[in-house]
Amino acid sequence: MKAPVTVVGLGPMGRAMAAAFLRNGHPTTVWNRTASKAASLVEQGAALVATPAEALAASELAVISQTDYKAMYDSLDGADLKGRVLVNLSSGSPDELRRAGEWASANGAALLTGGVMTPPPGIGGPDAYIMYSGPEELLDRHRATLRVLGDTTYVGADVGLSNLYYQAQLYLFWSTLAAYMHSIAMLQSAGVSAEQFRPFAAETVTSLGVDGPMGFLRIIAEEIDAGTSPGGENSMLMQAVGADHVVETAEAAGIDTMGPRALRDLFWRTVDAGHGADGLTSVMNVIRKGA
Ligand code: NDP
Repeated sequence: MKAPVTVVGLGPMGRAMAAAFLRNGHPTTVWNRTASKAASLVEQGAALVATPAEALAASELAVISQTDYKAMYDSLDGADLKGRVLVNLSSGSPDELRRAGEWASANGAALLTGGVMTPPPGIGGPDAYIMYSGPEELLDRHRATLRVLGDTTYVGADVGLSNLYYQAQLYLFWSTLAAYMHSIAMLQSAGVSAEQFRPFAAETVTSLGVDGPMGFLRIIAEEIDAGTSPGGENSMLMQAVGADHVVETAEAAGIDTMGPRALRDLFWRTVDAGHGADGLTSVMNVIRKGA
């Protein structure tokens, strides 16, 4: 018999997770603040319980998927957590996760955290992976069950690490796509459609990740880890002036300029800090300093 599992939180993500456990033959108990969201899962065989305490009593393993960590405290504070393995796959800041680890320990439970790297329809699919952090033996103990959701990628013992990776990935994802949409808006001002621009954008985004003259993900990582920032033929000053032109173009297009101005300001602050002749990675000197 497959291991029983409890799912707390039935938003789009929690529902997809509970459905994946059910599809794979795991006895699945569900609880949600709004019980009606469990209707289709009950049809698929889930046991709906009325209280978080009953949900925790049903299985050693409880997968939590809620809007944030506050929801976990609102739901589980006061319930008997002794001996439970909580796997919280909700979004939060690393420090919030570390505090949650302490809260779990103080209540006799253990906490693994995770960052889910797929939208709900991808759960259980071939490309899904979840970055876990916390005690590795907990992941090992429940890996066969958690594997149902996607690849189980362990990133470290610090329980906050999963969401440090997760927030870093989200920032990269959202800022890249926001820049893509800003670029589309600039081009639309001259009648160019999003679809006309898409192949050019795809070329740029794809080439960043592969080796070659535009393979900047590797180039930048190597420079940062080596602590170098060669200006060569691409000085920071030249790029700051170039960023001025991006802002002017956005202004002329009549679109929001907040993103382009943030980029331009970062570049000029780097030049002003004495890095005009250095390369792009010299922006790390400004980024690391904080506000
Ligand atoms: P939702 O915000 O839709 O999650 C809603 C769930 O949280 C519901 O079960 C809701 O209960 C519950 N909830 C919220 N506040 C409380 C509270 N105070 N007390 C009790 N329950 C509460 O998010 P998703 O389902 O989309 O995602 C869940 C988590 O997964 C989030 O942290 C999200 O960042 C993360 N994630 C989501 C992805 C996505 O594409 N959706 C992708 C990767 C990660 P009720 O139904 O009663 O309102």
